[in-house]
Amino acid sequence: MGIVQGKRALVVGVANDKSLAWQIAQTLAKEGAEVALTYQGEVLEKRVRPLAAQIDATVIGELDVTNDAQIESVFAALKEKWGGLDLLVHAVAFAERENLRDRFLTVSRENFARSMEISAYSLVALARAAEPLMEACGGGSIITLTYLGAVRAIPNYNMMGVAKAALEACVRYLSIDLGAKNIRVNALSAGPARTLSSSAIRDFHTMTHQVEERSPLRRGMKPEEVGTMAAAVLSDFSSGVTGQTIYVDVGFNIMGF
Ligand code: NAD
Repeated sequence: MGIVQGKRALVVGVANDKSLAWQIAQTLAKEGAEVALTYQGEVLEKRVRPLAAQIDATVIGELDVTNDAQIESVFAALKEKWGGLDLLVHAVAFAERENLRDRFLTVSRENFARSMEISAYSLVALARAAEPLMEACGGGSIITLTYLGAVRAIPNYNMMGVAKAALEACVRYLSIDLGAKNIRVNALSAGPARTLSSSAIRDFHTMTHQVEERSPLRRGMKPEEVGTMAAAVLSDFSSGVTGQTIYVDVGFNIMGF
């Protein structure tokens, strides 16, 4: 018996085999969940389908989180397939490359709004769509992925730090709205990991290097540690935990120097 045995999980944010969402999807499947994946556009579909096949997951449809019709159709397909939903993983973020380097001050109104929409508002939109399906199961558990740059000024993280601060606030407010329906909402604050998205951050290697040198565990975070913590937080073992930002960063966030 796995810790999420028999649970039905939607994982949004797999782009390739380096994606943190992929670590989570693999662990959920290993721990007994049925997993559905989405993909953002045709190019990524070609990467997501073979990965889904590896863990016997369903590719439930295309999902660009800025597209309300796609959100509606993915959740309609889930309702048709499962009748309900127990777990939702939101692992989606976007900032223009030019806003992940140099001066935060230069971000345009348009880029600011787009980053906030994709990286923070999308959690609200997906949670709203998930609510009736989770209610049908007597409750549910939602997680999103965030980073320390939400609460500390990290050079170059810039626009994404502001979006992550909003995302963490969304987690707290959503947890109030959904708590009465036994739906929990939490954020995992992961340490730096090499992925498609993180490669856009200037001097990303400095972030990983600092963690390896200075964290209490004196090593980098292993991506699979995000998968195992996600399964733990999504599972009923964490039934008393909601509205939290939980650090999976080999302890780096506690350091003052
Ligand atoms: P990734 O590039 O593998 O995943 C990012 C995902 O966001 C992709 O699947 C992409 O398709 C999706 N996405 C972007 N815009 C979208 C849109 N409009 N609609 C639907 N999907 C969209 O990179 P990752 O590092 O695995 O990122 C996953 C999450 O983890 C992000 O929220 C990221 O900020 C967070 N995170 C990453 C790190 C890290 O160091 N990699 C650390 C902490 C938190």
